Amino acid sequence: MSFKFTSIRLVYYSTILLMIASLLPFAATTNASPQKPNEARDVYYPGTEDLRPDEMRVVALGTGQPTVRPKQASAAFLVELGNGDKFLFDLGYGSVQRLSTMKIPMDYLDKVFIGHLHMDHFGDLDALWIGGLKMNRTYPLRVWGPSGETPKMGTKNAIEGLKQMLYWDAVTVAGLIDTRGEQIEVNEFDYQAVNNVIYEENGVTIRSIPAIHVTDGAVSFILEWNGLKFAYSSDTFPNKWWLEHTKNVDISIHECFASPQILLEKQKYPPPLALALSVFKHTSPQQFGKVMSMTEPRLAVGYHFYNDHDTLPVILDQVRRTYDGPLAMATDYMVFNVTKEDIRVRMAAVDTEIWPSLSTRPTKRNPPKGSLFSEFTESGMEPMPELIQRIYDDFNKRNGTNVPLPKK
Ligand SMILES: [Zn+2]
Ligand SMILES: [Zn+2]
Repeated sequence: MSFKFTSIRLVYYSTILLMIASLLPFAATTNASPQKPNEARDVYYPGTEDLRPDEMRVVALGTGQPTVRPKQASAAFLVELGNGDKFLFDLGYGSVQRLSTMKIPMDYLDKVFIGHLHMDHFGDLDALWIGGLKMNRTYPLRVWGPSGETPKMGTKNAIEGLKQMLYWDAVTVAGLIDTRGEQIEVNEFDYQAVNNVIYEENGVTIRSIPAIHVTDGAVSFILEWNGLKFAYSSDTFPNKWWLEHTKNVDISIHECFASPQILLEKQKYPPPLALALSVFKHTSPQQFGKVMSMTEPRLAVGYHFYNDHDTLPVILDQVRRTYDGPLAMATDYMVFNVTKEDIRVRMAAVDTEIWPSLSTRPTKRNPPKGSLFSEFTESGMEPMPELIQRIYDDFNKRNGTNVPLPKK
């Protein structure tokens, strides 16, 4: 009896609930075809969105600590502007892999600004230079970086060293690539100059200010375009130049290193090193918050820590002790769309099976040089003439081509 009563009451209440539900807005969408895209997606799909002429898009390509890991590459940020310009600020190791997912032809990735010469800030310059060359970047790579206390400590010397390191690679691609992309233009500027214009083209101005990090020769950058201001600290201890020149910028990306406690517990650093590294060699979370309170950007972005489920709450708690303004704690593939009206923060959905984008203009290849082998190495080749002939024949037949076998 009581069972029957309960069942009737359940039917009664369910009917009322269904009637209420039919009045709610989501009920109206039940007729929509499930094949239609969901317009409410809040993800950035690279290569699918126009930038508005007055819009700036910033992509976090590397946000982790100095040792690279699958989840986070080392420091690198891509800035794309509505006028078509693109800039890279730092290029720490691992970051070019992230850059490849943005579906941008190498011709547009020719401008790199290096904050200082630690490998977690420029260790992937080789990957962009040689990798870009092999994907037909038809423009020289342009690099801006600070001088040092001595010429040996400056960017010019570092790039000369890089060229020496990659000499074998550069020689062996001759005849296969467009050598216009092989050139590197190095623009070394005075690390001590304050608010110094180091780039001014196409309505974009980039200035450098000194930074304080480990030794002399580190800098931070400020990009200005179309009334929008982007500031990027690279690595620095809180300093007067940043406080003076980044007030009220639209997006302020400043390092926020792991706290001393995290370095002690997770990385087992000795206590004096944990403290010195977080507080003096870098900027600890509480110092980062204080800097943001003093400069009041439209959006503060903290980077340079391993951003995980157990570290983020600890770091965020510390930042919030000294700063209560707009904030994003960066991880790789975080995307910021900045306009005067709005700053939108999303994550990118990336294609890990991405292929390199094609060059935007015809490539000019030098004629292949003869064999680069010595007689010794050539004497070791197993020619397999019938098989190779068949590969050439099949290819030519399938593609309607007439590529002859090389003479040797
Ligand atoms: Zn550094
Ligand atoms: Zn660093």
